[in-house]
Amino acid sequence: MSKLISGLYNPSRRSFLKKSTAGIITALAAPAIISCANGSQSNKKKLGLALMGLGYYSTDILAPSIQMCKNVYLAGIVTGTPSKAETWKSKYNLKDENIYNYENFDEIIKNDEIDIVYVVLPNALHKEFTIRAAKAGKHVICEKPMAPTVADCQEMIAACKTNNVQLTIGYRMHFEPYTQEIMRLAKDKDFGNVRHISTGAAFNMNFFDNWKSKKELNGGSMMDMGVYPLQAARYSTGEEPISVSAQTFKIRPDKIEADEVTSFQLQFPGGTVATCATGFHANFNYLKVFCENGWYELDPFSSYNGIQGKKSNGEFKFPEVNQQARQMDEVAWCLINEKPMRVTGEEGVKDIRVVEKIWESIAQGGKTIMI
Ligand code: NAD
Repeated sequence: MSKLISGLYNPSRRSFLKKSTAGIITALAAPAIISCANGSQSNKKKLGLALMGLGYYSTDILAPSIQMCKNVYLAGIVTGTPSKAETWKSKYNLKDENIYNYENFDEIIKNDEIDIVYVVLPNALHKEFTIRAAKAGKHVICEKPMAPTVADCQEMIAACKTNNVQLTIGYRMHFEPYTQEIMRLAKDKDFGNVRHISTGAAFNMNFFDNWKSKKELNGGSMMDMGVYPLQAARYSTGEEPISVSAQTFKIRPDKIEADEVTSFQLQFPGGTVATCATGFHANFNYLKVFCENGWYELDPFSSYNGIQGKKSNGEFKFPEVNQQARQMDEVAWCLINEKPMRVTGEEGVKDIRVVEKIWESIAQGGKTIMI
């Protein structure tokens, strides 16, 4: 990881942020200064973030996490439900002029208090609203998965580039210490080369009147949970897969229109094989990495908390963190300091490139497809 990133995660952060404030005023059109970690208040404000789509993830996870952030605060919301606007306004002390709906959202271009729009909508809407946010001159955090197709992702990347704003994807695991250790092991090869990966993320869905079970809004288990094992296979090797074979199964076709249970096998250029599983049919969450000279695992590996790690030579432990707060804080820090995002739009598109091949393999009865 770069010096920049480690500066956020270790005791040197305090001095790093203090040192960097000098450059901030010139770095942003609307002057915005982070508060220093030692509590000494610099003279301006944190970056302002607007949450778009006030469903489960925004309400239960992101909004409380933003309260823990040092570099960014909840400045606004975008919602189609007036009653939610009222509730959020009083709960988070929001200004009327920072509350938008999906129709008047483009007026956000005139709002200097909002630097970042966080798109937390059904997957099929990520593209439209990322592009609209970019055209309004706002940096974008777009939730995972980035968008249904590679072409969609590329349009999003292009719109952000054209409008000179940054785009990042809500891959919170990249900010989580156990996951970062898995990424380090892929590089440093403490146990030799990775030979086999077994990973899966699924939950037993018992609500069906929701976009996640429908195709139209790009629901389905692969896009919802399957991107976690896909990501894990990629970051556990540090490589891009060269081939995929995939299968899908239905258990409750009357209730779930989109894919319910999907499995896929990847091969990587270094020879590693990954068997990956996802679904809306059972609760599991594991990542096991088998190397030439040992193994390591996280179980669970992609939950918000409670991640546990073991290696063939013993347990390993890291402090628990708020992944979402860490992600949003670092995104704001990178914007303030004009540093590249840890998770770029390109990272999002790499997964969707594989997902497209997964659909192709399924359509051809599980045939191995080169990527
Ligand atoms: P949700 O259904 O709980 O919320 C979706 C929100 O979008 C709702 O407030 C809904 O009113 C709004 N919306 C706007 N237009 C809509 C439309 N046309 N149809 C349906 N809803 C519409 O979903 P969620 O679980 O909050 O997921 C939202 C996004 O966040 C998804 O992309 C999902 O993959 C992602 N997510 C990420 C994580 C993570 O850990 N990174 C966790 C959960 C969800």
